[in-house]
Amino acid sequence: MKISTRLFACLMLNLGLTILVHGQQQTGFVSIDCGGPVNFEYTDDSTKIKYNTDGAYINSGINRNISSEYAYPKNPNLPLPLSDLRSFPEGKRNCYNIKTPIRKSLHLIRASFLYGNYDGEDKLPEFDLYVDVNFWSSVTFRNASEQLVMEIISMKISEEINVCLVNKGLGTPFISALELRPIITSSVYTTEFGSAASLLLFKRWDIAPLNGTGRYEDDAFDRIWSPSSSSSWETLETSSAINVNNSGYRPPFEVIRTAARPKNESDTLEFSWAPNDPSSKFYVYLYFAEVEKLQKKQLRKFNISWNGSPLFGPLVPSYLLTTTVSNSKSLVGNKHQISISRTGDSTLPPILNAVEIYVVTQLDTIPTFEQDVDAITNIKGAYEVQRNWVGDPCEPKEYNWDGLECNYSNSLPPRIISLNLSSSSLSGVIASAFSNLLSLESLDLSNNSLTGSVPQFLEDFKSLKVLNLKDNHLSGSVPANLLERSRAGLLALSVDDQNICGSSTCKKKNIAVPIAVSISSVLVLLIAFALIWKLRRKKPSGNSKFDAVKSPLSLNLMILLHEPYSDKEIQKTNKGGTIASKQWQYSYAEVLEITNNFEMAIGKGGFGIVYRGELKDGNQVAVKMLSPSSSQGPKEFQTEAELLMTVHHRNLVSFIGYCDDDNKMALMYEYMANGNLKNYLSDKNSNIVSWQRRLEIAIDAAQGLEYLHHGCKPPIVHRDVKTANILLNENLEAKIADFGLSTVYKNDNINAESEVMGTTGYLDPEYYKLRKLNEKSDIFSFGVVIIELITGQPAVIRGEESIHILAWVTYELESGDFSRIVDPRLEGKFCTGSVERALGVAMACSATPSIHRPTMNFVVQELKQCLEMEIPSISDKFKMVPRRVYSELYSSSEPYSLDTDSITSPFAR
Ligand code: ATP
Repeated sequence: MKISTRLFACLMLNLGLTILVHGQQQTGFVSIDCGGPVNFEYTDDSTKIKYNTDGAYINSGINRNISSEYAYPKNPNLPLPLSDLRSFPEGKRNCYNIKTPIRKSLHLIRASFLYGNYDGEDKLPEFDLYVDVNFWSSVTFRNASEQLVMEIISMKISEEINVCLVNKGLGTPFISALELRPIITSSVYTTEFGSAASLLLFKRWDIAPLNGTGRYEDDAFDRIWSPSSSSSWETLETSSAINVNNSGYRPPFEVIRTAARPKNESDTLEFSWAPNDPSSKFYVYLYFAEVEKLQKKQLRKFNISWNGSPLFGPLVPSYLLTTTVSNSKSLVGNKHQISISRTGDSTLPPILNAVEIYVVTQLDTIPTFEQDVDAITNIKGAYEVQRNWVGDPCEPKEYNWDGLECNYSNSLPPRIISLNLSSSSLSGVIASAFSNLLSLESLDLSNNSLTGSVPQFLEDFKSLKVLNLKDNHLSGSVPANLLERSRAGLLALSVDDQNICGSSTCKKKNIAVPIAVSISSVLVLLIAFALIWKLRRKKPSGNSKFDAVKSPLSLNLMILLHEPYSDKEIQKTNKGGTIASKQWQYSYAEVLEITNNFEMAIGKGGFGIVYRGELKDGNQVAVKMLSPSSSQGPKEFQTEAELLMTVHHRNLVSFIGYCDDDNKMALMYEYMANGNLKNYLSDKNSNIVSWQRRLEIAIDAAQGLEYLHHGCKPPIVHRDVKTANILLNENLEAKIADFGLSTVYKNDNINAESEVMGTTGYLDPEYYKLRKLNEKSDIFSFGVVIIELITGQPAVIRGEESIHILAWVTYELESGDFSRIVDPRLEGKFCTGSVERALGVAMACSATPSIHRPTMNFVVQELKQCLEMEIPSISDKFKMVPRRVYSELYSSSEPYSLDTDSITSPFAR
């Protein structure tokens, strides 16, 4: 010590200033002697700092002592904390976790290292040091006796700080001491980068000291000051008390009470340094206090410049009062020279009492999403996970926690997407902490001793693709939604037999098999879709107008490309008879009046031309006239009319009436102002349909189909699901249209052989091949519709060689670049997870065999989840209204029937 504690205290008391003596106060100090005896506490005689050994801050590594050659008594000046160390032969990253005693402050963090040949190998290690997720410094030694001290001022205000040592494969990391000092005063060590940067200590000089190195009890932040002298300087000193507390920097009295001045009074006072890295950004803090009592005519006044450019001044240092000046913008250059030169009117040479130089280090690594960190920390605590889980779970990327995978994006915090705690001796129930890992795509808890039920919250993991709960002691069944997703091939689910079915309504046999199969079907799908299927359009051959194009590996998925049906292929009948109900009937004269003599044609389809019309009440209608040359005959006309009279849903185009007057046949519908989805999506439409809107359209259409499949008894298969048959009203609400080909199942004709009908690009290959019709054929077609919505491409992409949209998507996915398939018109404005999930459903819809395709109920649920991902606060439209509509539909005591007598809600005319 340069001055005795007692004398110093006396001086301070005279001034009425607060004193901070290490041995007595040390408020907020954390002083860790790394590698000392367990639970040991001592006060270092020379510094009066109270040290604890490190057991409370880390649970990895081993305690070692430096070899006697470098230790006391051979090295009598060795600081006590450096005589032992903790080394980390295991694990890539080991971290000290320190709870900050004073939370709302910056912290000076100091790490000290002395190798001292502790391992007898005489080989200097090299490793990296991190503060939380940010790189601090590489640790390299010149020799075994070097006492390396590194300091950083962390601008981050947080409840805990992690200091991590990272093994680079260049020797075992170790640490001798770790210290944390709060910097409680505000507005000090500020930089232009705010809290986005920290300061690495480059130099801290006690200028022209009388004694040696100083670590002073009166330094509130426990800074260590190195002596700096020059033969061209002279030392000025005082023993009068100096007010060092007037600025927040609070330098110690011992440092400030001496100052340098140039020997030659007209000289400038200069110091310089050359950085290793010319792009380093420097901040310099200069301390001044007048230590001489000046006479009246005397004036000490000077300017400060950097590399010849003015930095600060003119400055007249105050007598026995400290002033700290610093650059407001970082200094960057190959060489740095600070010059302090007296002004013309100054009678005295310049002085300098102390200097600190720091290098800015930017904290640009974003730590893991806080909710994920809390969740995984709670999981670690709940099961006392015996892994080296320390520091941030996902960052730095190369050293994320063992068993974890994270999703990284440039500007957002990383999220935990995969957690593997298989064979980790977990016992007890599946902790609720898991429920907060909402981005999980894969969870493996297999081969543990988990008990209790399979929690319902697993259903909330919207992105979950793999769930392995096998080889545990869990009771109860897997939540229904997970089973359904597994069946649909969207979730690879592994559970013990007793968890497959817990309720009496579920028959083990029926469910176990699909689960087992679904896992393989996921694989089949992945493999199948990962192959390049470049499809070649073949010319129609023989009697068949269908071209079945198989993959090179003859995988089951078959894509059909065929010409539109000819009149012959559509079985015509003129014996259809008249539609029974009179209440929907319009005369041809009325049709003429409504359409104003067919004034405005709005479309043309298989039946003939569609005209716009207006009813007497002013409501607009679309009138579909059956043309005599129509490819679709009275049979389809009749089917459509009959179905429309019996089914009613907000997502099916409303039927207004029909005309069957002297062979003049017409069907009348509610008018859908925005036409069909095919046109609306096409390049020719200048409107860019947002991803959210596309999802809303998909949900509307899916709900219409869901009603046909599950809300009607017997169920109805549409048979011609395609974008051209999805119409949009003025509010862009989508409704399913065109029931001409629909087939009604009777219980006994499910899977009955039926004539193949449908449209190129949408036709289910299995239905085509086996001629067995069921609702899964609609699901295939709807999958194609979803892919059209994602890609903006038509079902069959015409070119030199026509290619089916599924084959194209598969080909593009194989390149690994998901973004290539997404409609470029969306300009990236979508949540990737939402599009990916929709793509997953679409692919599941085209699974083969068709038994692995999901139900429409499930497709609707999934699409709603996609929408929720896109807009976290889902609009009332889908959150509230459909639920009400569905509960009404399903609670209806009378199931819907095709018997016209049992129509429950006839349309108003
Ligand atoms: P196909 O019947 O051969 O499968 P399609 O479904 O396109 O073909 P239609 O249902 O006759 O044929 O419709 C032809 C076009 O008329 C539709 O694509 C649509 O643009 C328009 N259209 C049909 N119904 C309506 C409606 N209710 N409101 C507005 N436009 C309609």
